[in-house]
This record gives sequence, structure tokens and C-alpha cells, in this order.
Amino acid sequence: MDRSGIDDVLVIGGGPAGLTAATYLGRLHRRVRVLDAGQSRARWIPESNNCPGFPDGIAGNDLLARMREQAGGYGARFERATVTGLQRENGRYAVTADDGRRWQAPAVILATGLADRLPDMEHGDAAIACGALRLCPVCDAYEATDLDVGIFGPWRDIVAHARFLRGYTARLSLLPTDATGAVEELEDVDARVLPAGGRLLFDGRRCGYRPDGQESHWFDVVYPFLGWDSSAGLARQAGVVLTGRGEIPVDRSHQTTGVPGLYAIGDVVSGINQISVAVGQAAVAALDVHARLPFVPRA
Ligand SMILES: Cc1cc2nc3c(=O)[nH]c(=O)nc-3n(C[C@H](O)[C@H](O)[C@H](O)COP(=O)(O)OP(=O)(O)OC[C@H]3O[C@@H](n4cnc5c(N)ncnc54)[C@H](O)[C@@H]3O)c2cc1C
Repeated sequence: MDRSGIDDVLVIGGGPAGLTAATYLGRLHRRVRVLDAGQSRARWIPESNNCPGFPDGIAGNDLLARMREQAGGYGARFERATVTGLQRENGRYAVTADDGRRWQAPAVILATGLADRLPDMEHGDAAIACGALRLCPVCDAYEATDLDVGIFGPWRDIVAHARFLRGYTARLSLLPTDATGAVEELEDVDARVLPAGGRLLFDGRRCGYRPDGQESHWFDVVYPFLGWDSSAGLARQAGVVLTGRGEIPVDRSHQTTGVPGLYAIGDVVSGINQISVAVGQAAVAALDVHARLPFVPRA
């Protein structure tokens, strides 16, 4: 059978999930192409300290570069592309990018991650880069142990996260973006609550919070909880019925979506948005795709 020019699997998204899937598929002698818009959440990571195998930590961009090199070493091909179309036609997927390029394959792995909604503040990128503004307590609250920490966002969400962060520091302040709720909701958390509706600031080193017409309060670390956007709509185009919350339902034992040949892995489906979860799901999906694609004996 002439397999030239045909991909076995298209992976949409080149973060830790998509790159791990590409490495596995390459090592299974499958033809795999990664279509990636280049906005991995991992690029924000100044230093990850819970990534297995890196006891001294690793920056997100360094990790991504290593993972790309590893996948490329087993034949994965890469395209910078923003995918806007995903249709299933005659048992094959047709994938289109916003610039009109088009690819086809019998299987697709969606690994498009999430895009964090960031606070409306000046120099937010620089604040993330130096760790003053952080987006993931599971990732880096350990490094905020006993520091002065602010939690910014809607009351309902920051109360929920206050309990988790109280395990790391007694110096907690809640910075609500909407009305302040009942303080009893905080129960044993013992956190300071500042007036709602203030703005976040960054002075080049630390983040501050200024309630309307009042003086600013400064913190070692601020965690905003403003939610995120996802590309789950691509799965819907291919026939997946999303959950009421707009999420892609997957069978956790194989990462299948219910539409034949379409898988979803990593932050776009995880619930626990972690590199180790993303790479685990990638391995599961890659092996399942391989098992379901036609068997190709070695010549
Ligand atoms: C500041 C910060 C610190 C973090 N620290 C840690 C940590 O220490 N440890 C840890 O385990 N996790 C950490 N995380 C979480 C970690 O980054 C994510 O869990 C991980 O990146 C998820 O991998 P993914 O491949 O699912 O998604 P991503 O890494 O987000 O990759 C998705 C890729 O898909 C691309 N994409 C999206 N839509 C399309 C489209 N339509 N067409 C083409 N490409 C598309 C994106 O551009 C992106 O490149 C951190 C996150 C942040 C923001």
C-alpha cells in the first residue's frame, strides 16, 4: 500500500499533550502531523517544579522545545496553523486552517488546551513572567508558602480557592471583582477581604490591588481566577455533543469522544490542568489510535 503523503493522525495543538501524542505515534511508526497555533499555556511557566524528572525545575518554553525535538526525532511533522474547521467526510477527517490550508487523516487528536482569561491590567505578561501573577495554585502555590497572597476574581470562585491556598499561607487576602458575599462562607479560612471592584497593578516586581478611591495593597503573589476559553467547538463541528458546560465528553479509559477516530486530551478535557495529566492522556490516546488504525506490517 502506498502511504506516501497521507497522515495517519493529525494532532491539533502542540503543547505537552499534543507533543507527547506525536512522540508516541512516531515511535509506533505512524505518520503524524502536529498543527499548532503556538500559544501553549506552558509558555507562561517561569519555572515548573512539579514536572517529573526535573528536580531543579524547568521553564515552560524549555520543556516545549525539548518535547518538540523529541517528537521531531521520531518523524512528527509540524505546521504553524490555527485550525478553524474539523469535518468528518466518508470516514476521514478534513481539517482546515484559517488561511485555507487543508489536511486529511483517518484520525484526529484534539489537544488544543485552554486560553486563560487574564485580568485587565498593564504589563500582565511581565507579571506572569516573574511569578508575581500566577494562574495555577496546584502548579506553584508551594513556592508561595508563607507569602502574602491575594486571590482575585468573582466571590464564588475566590472563596473556593481560598480554602486550598490557606494550606500554604496564613497571609491571604480576597480581592473580589463583584460584590462581596457572606463572610461566614469563609468559615475557618481566616482571610482578609478587601473592598470589591478594585484594579490590579504591577510595579515591575509585585502585584497590587487598588479599590476605588483607596490606597493600594501589595502582595508577593496574586492568583486571578477569571476562567478560560477553549476550542471545544472544533469537536462539535465533527459531531461531538458537548456537555451543558460546553466541554468535550470523553471516555477516560481511551480519551475517545464517541465520534469514531476523534480523541481529546490535555487541558481541553482534563479538569486537572497539569502537564503530567496531559502527557498521561496523550499516551492513552496514542496507543488507542494505533490499535484502531489499519495494521501496517513492516516491509
Ligand atoms: C502560569 C502557568 C504555570 C503553570 N505551571 C505548571 C506547572 O508548574 N506544572 C504543571 O503541571 N502545569 C503547569 N501549568 C499548566 C500547564 O501549562 C498545562 O496543564 C499544559 O500546558 C496543558 O497542556 P496541553 O497540551 O493540554 O495544552 P497547551 O499547553 O495549552 O497547548 C495547546 C496548544 O494548542 C494550540 N491550539 C489551540 N487551539 C488551536 C487551534 N484551533 N488550532 C491549532 N492549534 C491550537 C495552542 O496554541 C497551544 O499551542 C501552568 C500553567 C500556567 C498558565
